Amino acid sequence: AKRDGGAQHRMHRTAAPSAEDADLLQLEADLHHALARGELELHFQPQFDARTLSVVGAEALLRWRHPVHGMVRPDRFIPLAEASGLIVPIGRWVLDEACRQAQQWSALAGREIDVAVNVSARQMIDDHLPGEVAEALRRHGLAPRRLELEITEGIAVRDVDQARGLLERLHALGVGVAIDDFGVGHSSLAYLRDLPVRRFKIDRGFLRGVPADAGGARLVAAMVSMARGLEVGVVAEGVERIEQLDFLVEQGCEVVQGFLLGRPLPADDFLHRLLDDAFGHRGRS
Ligand code: C2E
Ligand code: MG
Ligand code: MG
Ligand code: MG
Repeated sequence: AKRDGGAQHRMHRTAAPSAEDADLLQLEADLHHALARGELELHFQPQFDARTLSVVGAEALLRWRHPVHGMVRPDRFIPLAEASGLIVPIGRWVLDEACRQAQQWSALAGREIDVAVNVSARQMIDDHLPGEVAEALRRHGLAPRRLELEITEGIAVRDVDQARGLLERLHALGVGVAIDDFGVGHSSLAYLRDLPVRRFKIDRGFLRGVPADAGGARLVAAMVSMARGLEVGVVAEGVERIEQLDFLVEQGCEVVQGFLLGRPLPADDFLHRLLDDAFGHRGRS
């Protein structure tokens, strides 16, 4: 029997499977072929230097162009990919594709562009991950420091010894590690302090009412200042309004990402964005 039944498990939990369960089951079955059929693609959301607003890198975000359902959001299919173990081959493809793109853009734009890749819990317990990361970097000639792996706090904290071992192997390769959705998980600051983490990504939930909501603003300010105290970088995600950007710059946040400045784009559109940036359309008027 399969070790992870994924959607099947969910279906057997209730006596009468709902339409939603049947949909998930079908979606999971389709996901098995998605990679081989070329239905998966990466979009790239630009990350900006908060002060100059020039593009410094991109976060790779997975998209599934389903033949029937159209574009399926990762929040819907990543959990299926994790439960079924499909996230391992899919994640390997994401890593390879992200490294390939980053190297290609850098060559075309004439400057170094960093790339961040999301890594799920299931991949973090896979002993092969550091080897696969090294292989993807080598294959595309990407300098390790230009790749950042985004893990969620939950993973880092769930099994600290295992996470530490893996993070240290990744760190030894020269790859950066970011804590994604920072502040949302079961924060265990003592652990985070000891892990080789390059930066925190402040979850967009914290930015929602900022800066008008004084309590929220103080919280974000404290997170930025804590990151500085720990000597790790800080990225704010989900920046949607100019007031949020101004506030983050005032607090000393270094890198920003959000719909205000740029949505996730197909690779070619991202390249055009980079080239525009290079031809002087950068910065704030
Ligand atoms: P995440 O890593 O926290 O990615 C940020 C999400 O916030 C993305 O959603 C992005 O499109 C969205 N976002 C960015 N700026 C804004 C903004 O200003 N406003 C709002 N409302 N949203 C913004 P997306 O692409 O739907 O991805 C959702 C999640 O799926 C990601 O959250 C990540 O956890 C997961 N994911 C995406 N790609 C991959 C992948 O290749 N591998 C794995 N394991 N997980 C992935
Ligand atoms: Mg992320
Ligand atoms: Mg995030
Ligand atoms: Mg998130």
